[in-house]
Amino acid sequence: MRIAVVSEHASPLAVGGGDVGEQGTHVAELAAALVGEGHDVRVYTRRDSPALPDVVPAAGGYRVLHVPAGPARRVPRDELLPHMGEFGRWLAGQWRDGAWLPDVAHAHFWTSGLATVHAGRRAGVPVALTYHGLGTVRRRHQGARDTSPPGRVGYERALGRAVDRVVAQCQEEVGELVRLGVPRSRMVLVPSGVDERIFRPDGPAAPRHPGRSRIVTVGRMVERKGFQEVVRALPAVPDAECVVVGGPPAEMLPADGFARRLTALAESCGVADRVKLLGGLPREELASWYRSADVVVTAPWYEPFGLTALEGMACGVPVIGTNVGGIADTVVDGLTGDLVPPRDPRALGMAIRRLLADNVRRFTYATAALDRIRSRYSWKRCAEQLGAVYETLSTVARPAPAVA
Ligand code: UDP
Repeated sequence: MRIAVVSEHASPLAVGGGDVGEQGTHVAELAAALVGEGHDVRVYTRRDSPALPDVVPAAGGYRVLHVPAGPARRVPRDELLPHMGEFGRWLAGQWRDGAWLPDVAHAHFWTSGLATVHAGRRAGVPVALTYHGLGTVRRRHQGARDTSPPGRVGYERALGRAVDRVVAQCQEEVGELVRLGVPRSRMVLVPSGVDERIFRPDGPAAPRHPGRSRIVTVGRMVERKGFQEVVRALPAVPDAECVVVGGPPAEMLPADGFARRLTALAESCGVADRVKLLGGLPREELASWYRSADVVVTAPWYEPFGLTALEGMACGVPVIGTNVGGIADTVVDGLTGDLVPPRDPRALGMAIRRLLADNVRRFTYATAALDRIRSRYSWKRCAEQLGAVYETLSTVARPAPAVA
């Protein structure tokens, strides 16, 4: 099949730093896995630099097309809405006039959804949408600090009905979407996969500090990732060091406001000598840090999916996570790891302390976690499931394309 993947702000070519989130990684790995299943895949992302070629063949066997829509520089994703009309018109033009008409288009994030629905209607291409986070959830947690455009929730509700299929990533998202008014019958639940070539149990591990247990926690340097709760949990976990990976590269951390606040918090909790901020790392290096850990902790306040829990599990390390988003599906409480309530350093501290003290439990969690990854979260399985979804969409009779 010919599959168009639309990811307006998250380019699959920009993966691998500490500030690039789940969506770019997801799109890169999904596109490669779809190619592996024999599909012809093109990824459309916004041109955010004048230096970018129009088309780039990616190592994964798909092509990345840079769409001219808005200024050719980085624009925060919350400011992209005004450029989505241009993005959608460009896509429609390509699909209608060009030599390559996709059988199906899969949009990632709501703004991509708007552009893709516009183009899909005009070119007669069915559309699937993965939200990668919902405006309702963001507003609930961030309140006045939410920088999403005011219309986001309304657009997301409308998109849920306008697209041919919504691809939800976890149970919690299905519930949110139902409450938003998206019919359950329009949804399919397909969790993200994890790159098992990078995140695997064998391979180099970062050196250890003798006599100290190691907690590793990974993510962007933002409040909602819950690093402050991990630091607050540390006084309850003596003799353990906490390695925090993510954010800007190490040399830029001193200029990062959040990193500075985290360091100050570690000092005020009396654990500064046990907290190590590494900054953002490429994924291969990140894997060696996961492998060096006794436990991976992921403690976000909320999380659309939560790739880092999967990555820790795939490296054969038990995970303690907060009971939110995709983490509540991927970590099976008491079997592959432990789940604790979000924003609760006391519960987190108790869970870490108990697990670090119990070698047998850590071993059994790690073994079960690996089994779970292999049976449920391979990219191959994800690509097969999505391939079946695309197949049903492409065989549904399409209305005649509207005249532009
Ligand atoms: N990541 C990375 N280097 C880092 C920190 C994170 O490559 O220094 C990657 C990590 O491997 C994961 C993604 O960034 O694939 C973060 O995904 P997650 O779902 O945890 O959160 P998001 O950033 O999308 O909110």
